[in-house]
Amino acid sequence: MPPARILFWAATAGVLVFSCHAALTQAPSLAVSALVAFLYVALLTCGALVLRLRMFADALVCGPHDARGVALTFDDGPHPLHTKEVLDILDTYGAKATFFVIGHKAVAHRDVVIEIVRRGHQVGVHGFAHARLFSLWGSKRVRDDLEQAVAVVETITGERPRLFRPPIGHTNPTIARIAEQLDLRVVGWSVGGHDGLATATAEGVVGRISRGLKDGAVVLLHDAAEHGSRKPAGVTALDAILQKIEAKNLRVTPLSTWLDDESEGLPEGR
Ligand SMILES: [Zn+2]
Repeated sequence: MPPARILFWAATAGVLVFSCHAALTQAPSLAVSALVAFLYVALLTCGALVLRLRMFADALVCGPHDARGVALTFDDGPHPLHTKEVLDILDTYGAKATFFVIGHKAVAHRDVVIEIVRRGHQVGVHGFAHARLFSLWGSKRVRDDLEQAVAVVETITGERPRLFRPPIGHTNPTIARIAEQLDLRVVGWSVGGHDGLATATAEGVVGRISRGLKDGAVVLLHDAAEHGSRKPAGVTALDAILQKIEAKNLRVTPLSTWLDDESEGLPEGR
């Protein structure tokens, strides 16, 4: 079990004991109660925001300990121009990647999703609406959004997607439970280019990704901006990133090769 989840259960038990003790004996001061509540909420917030901690979801954030290669993933597409540019660059290197598509964009650019699959890449879901407040939604809304995203990809590709990257990378127990019920594996990342930011530069993206390149790394890039048609810096940086991978004597590995390994997704020891 990930250390963060053990901490979560221990803290939850501690808060329950604290509450029972307060109810059965003398109530603690307001300051002590506020401090306990603050620390507990801070812990939950950390778990929700940092997928790599795996506090709530058994996310795949890197390959197994004996993994070889680097997995490339792209979020927030498809985009009619930028995704195809990514596909062309990947073809040049014979590299296969995973594209986490946004449902409503997939509806608008079905041909691009078909092209991703035709060129041998994997398609996962990244929510239908890609809402920034996804982790604050109730269970019905989360389920409806995910089911809609899955149905869209399945209709277009003819294959039910197995992988899910939560919008903005935020999770909570509800999202984790619904993903599991829908047979979706939550996927995080071990190194991100922050290339979705409007201020990101290709040089900066290459530098950030290079520092995290090693066997078992899951690289997060973007083939489309979250909104609008701006070209993410990661698309411009992709050729240089692939050169860095080659220069480090690594290779690009499809994420799917790590999915059935029992020790997959364990960040410990990496
Ligand atoms: Zn996204």
